[in-house]
Amino acid sequence: MEPRLDEPRVLAPYVRVGFQDGTLFLGFGSIRRPVHDRALWESLLRLADHFRTPRTRAEARSFLDGPCGVDVDRAEAVMRLLEDGNHLIPAHTYDPADRYSRHTLFYALSGADAVKVQLRLARSRVVLLGCGGIGSLVAVTLATAGVGELVLVDADQVEPSNLTRQFLFTEADIGRPKAEVLARELRRRNHDCRARPVVHEVGDGEDLEHLPACDLLVVSADSPGLTGMVNAHCVRSGTPWLNACYVNDIAVWGPLVVPGTTGCWDCRPFTAHAPEGEPELAGLMARINDRYQAPSNGPVNMLASSLAVLDVLRYLGGFGTPSSLNRRVGVWSHDLTLDEQGAERDPACPTCADAVPLCEGVR
Ligand SMILES: [Zn+2]
Repeated sequence: MEPRLDEPRVLAPYVRVGFQDGTLFLGFGSIRRPVHDRALWESLLRLADHFRTPRTRAEARSFLDGPCGVDVDRAEAVMRLLEDGNHLIPAHTYDPADRYSRHTLFYALSGADAVKVQLRLARSRVVLLGCGGIGSLVAVTLATAGVGELVLVDADQVEPSNLTRQFLFTEADIGRPKAEVLARELRRRNHDCRARPVVHEVGDGEDLEHLPACDLLVVSADSPGLTGMVNAHCVRSGTPWLNACYVNDIAVWGPLVVPGTTGCWDCRPFTAHAPEGEPELAGLMARINDRYQAPSNGPVNMLASSLAVLDVLRYLGGFGTPSSLNRRVGVWSHDLTLDEQGAERDPACPTCADAVPLCEGVR
């Protein structure tokens, strides 16, 4: 975030300092910066302390030049250390009483204007295809983060076997439509979120046409052919979309398809298919695969949904960079291997070759 000279800023509450083996560490996490030069870190500590209350850049420089007695070059270096790591935030950014205040700090951590991020989320509408293990967790994270409207599409009813991972459903909800129960639970958690249940199974492209336009669509349902159908619809309508799922014990998300900008689902093959020209073998494979039942597991659902929804928030809110742009990512839960498939745009893709960038491009 480029600082305005006349804007009062304050030391971000997420900044801590530590000292180890002669080195001062400014900030924790990905913004941590080691400072070895004692003259530099002594001035840095004094300046960081000065910024515990809001100051303009000019006031800070006067402090360094005056009471600190720091020479011009070092004063600028010290200022830059604080500014470059997003250690200073606009004074109005953080109100601890605000319900979104902790998220606000998270957005500021990546250098975004946190107030604008929250406004963008409030103005966003997301359609969720699938309200099960992943969809329900994505939904509650978006709702509580302040996304303005969620359209919840699912034809299924709550079953006893769902309760190991679809935590918003209770035993008392068994037999009730998932979309309706989920909408009720989201409203309980954030009355500002407009949660709209659609108890309907998306069977063809026409069903997709009847859904409201949205800023992003998330697919976490496993109906055969659904992802290809959604991809064609989204590229045609200029709707960004993201798939989140699991492949047995691998948590998978992406690619985040931004039509006209990134690769789409059809630019590269992501999944295996039956051999062509081999009807007998294809029939055998179909018989084996027809009896497949996913070993769906709570922690793996949480892993896939949490990483996918972080990308959704990044995209909608405009902070950081989504991890699944132009790639499909998998975390192998048994050994934490990170797996990825490239999803760059193919200029000859039959689905997205003619797609033009959205008005905002990658938001
Ligand atoms: Zn494509």
